[in-house]
Amino acid sequence: AAEEGFDIEDVEGAIEEAGHGPLPVLAVVGRPNVGKSTLVNRIIGRREAVVEDKPGVTRDRVTYEAEWAGRRFKVVDTGGWEQDVLGIDASVAAQAEFAIEAADAVVFVVDATVGATDTDEAVVKLLRRAGKPVVLAANKVDGPSGEADAAMLWSLGLGEPFPVSALHGRGTGDLLDEVLKALPEAPAQTFGNAVGGPRRIALIGRPNVGKSSLLNKVAGEERVVVNELAGTTRDPVDELIELGGTTWKFVDTAGIRKRVHLQEGADYYASLRTAAAVEKAEVAVVLIDTSESISVQDQRIITMAVEAGRALVIAYNKWDTLDEERRYYLEREIDTEMQQVSWAPRVNVSARTGRHMEKLVPAIETALAGWETRVPTGRLNAFLGELVAAHPHPIRGGKQPRILFGTQAGTKPPRFVLFASGFLEHGYRRFVERRLREEFGFEGTPIHISVRVRE
Ligand code: GDP
Ligand code: GDP
Repeated sequence: AAEEGFDIEDVEGAIEEAGHGPLPVLAVVGRPNVGKSTLVNRIIGRREAVVEDKPGVTRDRVTYEAEWAGRRFKVVDTGGWEQDVLGIDASVAAQAEFAIEAADAVVFVVDATVGATDTDEAVVKLLRRAGKPVVLAANKVDGPSGEADAAMLWSLGLGEPFPVSALHGRGTGDLLDEVLKALPEAPAQTFGNAVGGPRRIALIGRPNVGKSSLLNKVAGEERVVVNELAGTTRDPVDELIELGGTTWKFVDTAGIRKRVHLQEGADYYASLRTAAAVEKAEVAVVLIDTSESISVQDQRIITMAVEAGRALVIAYNKWDTLDEERRYYLEREIDTEMQQVSWAPRVNVSARTGRHMEKLVPAIETALAGWETRVPTGRLNAFLGELVAAHPHPIRGGKQPRILFGTQAGTKPPRFVLFASGFLEHGYRRFVERRLREEFGFEGTPIHISVRVRE
């Protein structure tokens, strides 16, 4: 490496940085208007989380990456909740429950200028039951005079209240220091039962695509429809199902079961549920309803799984409804709308008739195998050497950037670091990714490529 102009420490640092596994998850929960979204913005250091939160405008994005004191983690923002879907207490509880379920640690935000309310007390109960580490943020303490209000929140029994002003930033550094103490290095969800435990599948998709039907079909039994309000009981949320001689864990299946009160206007709830399931899973099976056109919402759900770095299978459901004409147009839609995930294994199924159910498990296994693939450094560099010789980067400004060497820094999903003599254009990076896929497979997995340029 040294003769190529890279310092060995730079190389090791880059590999370590690129090789990080799944990040631990922090959930920010609390009543509406206590300042959750404002705090999330502070934590992620960007202004994009809250985009003019008009009532009724739903947001799809609920997870963000953050970094504090050199540690990276994910933040789940629950601030976009629509209160009118359920009663206020039930909605806060349901929202908190989902977020807590997916999280490794929780920041519970209370408005110190209001003090602890009954709803706050209800969330405290949930937090106790969940047993996750909690950091209590006493928000809207904009100046020293508010510190006394914050101290009142010791009464919640969650330990020390951290007085903060999410709006002005006061105290948020101390809060984040505490958050880092509470967060594990790696997410328990992902590593906790990685060895020998059942593989974790998230079955996701728009409402009515057939998730619960498919789950019932593969489980070989009709499942009881759960009618009670979200959050009023604690169902076991994960389901162990034996398929093809192997036990799989379908995560967050309670969210798949019908909740009659949550049909319309619950988009945000659906997004949060999807994000929670994806965080807990290793592989996402995204269901598409082929009786309708592929929608932006379908694509957002796929993007969520890809951005979370999960293995991906796409199941085209309701195949029984297709006539020849619709099928023709469907294939064209898939070619155009699904091009960016053309690497994902595809199964054409019907949860109603059971068509091709037996193809689901092999597709999931293929995706997980791709997700875990590790390319030895020697093979990778032989491949890169040939690629660079056969397809050099275009000359720019009289210079020709070259890939000098590379290594795979991690798996689940595969992460590569390429070391180059100059900036590699987007199109060339895409080309390298395509060739990597052609050479090494990576079916069913996103791959990350980061490029280090010699100074
Ligand atoms: P959420 O519903 O819990 O996500 O709350 P928001 O983040 O949307 O904040 C609700 C309102 O409280 C907004 O008007 C914010 O500007 C305000 N707010 C949030 N944090 C603070 C704070 O630290 N101090 C003050 N004074 N206002 C705040
Ligand atoms: P979920 O909201 O994604 O869980 O969807 P459901 O499983 O509740 O299914 C929504 C509707 O689609 C129900 O009326 C199902 O009977 C129907 N459905 C599900 N799968 C299929 C399928 O493969 N073919 C047909 N024709 N209908 C289906």
